[in-house]
Amino acid sequence: MDPNRLKELGLLPVWRVRPGTISGQPSVQSSDSRECPTVHTETAVESSIVDDRSALIARANWEQLRQMVSSCTACPLCQTRKQTVFGVGDEQADWLFIGEGPGAREDALGEPFVGQAGKLLDSMLQAINLGREQGVYITNVVKCRPPDNRNPLEIEAQQCRPYLLRQIALIQPRLIVTLGKVAAQNLLATGDSIASLRGRLHEFAGIPLIATYHPAYLLRSLTDKAKAWEDLCFARRTMQTLRDK
Ligand code: URA
Repeated sequence: MDPNRLKELGLLPVWRVRPGTISGQPSVQSSDSRECPTVHTETAVESSIVDDRSALIARANWEQLRQMVSSCTACPLCQTRKQTVFGVGDEQADWLFIGEGPGAREDALGEPFVGQAGKLLDSMLQAINLGREQGVYITNVVKCRPPDNRNPLEIEAQQCRPYLLRQIALIQPRLIVTLGKVAAQNLLATGDSIASLRGRLHEFAGIPLIATYHPAYLLRSLTDKAKAWEDLCFARRTMQTLRDK
């Protein structure tokens, strides 16, 4: 895509990770450095490497992007994954659903949301007349399974961010629906709970975004299933409005 168009979408410049820092915390070098500033200063070389990687990803087509993801070694998750889980669905979808990261089954099969939570997601989609391949794309914040089903770390999400941004830029969905706390907090750069984020229209990179519960959570919480249904109805109404514009 034309870089100017990406800029308009707010997708350039993309995130830069400072090597040696996690969650934006300055790295402490040694106890002797107490009197010196402890902020890790990014060297020109480090920052240009990060910029080069992001810029390369931001120019990739689908095939190149798939290849980049499948050979990615940008964070330690590459050491424990069986395979990367890129995403699935219609590459020109109006709807983009984003979860947090692959679980064991997704890691084994290479497709997002194929376990129990995935079955529930499929039913949720059906309930609003959608399906995996019909106007819907499904992906995750991170493309590799975090071990023991833990949440992705900030640094892992940051390293995967250029891939997600590129997927969004290629798809150009009308509406993003985040599934669960991790995806919502990550995209909206907030620590707020799903309970407080749901029921409102947000925006990510100029694209309307609705946050709802993660299907794995809904499998355990009957009461919040009703709220998730309200969220889906809200999303369907929002989509109608966006299409009518
Ligand atoms: N949970 C997620 O967030 N994503 C998957 O792909 C599977 C389970």
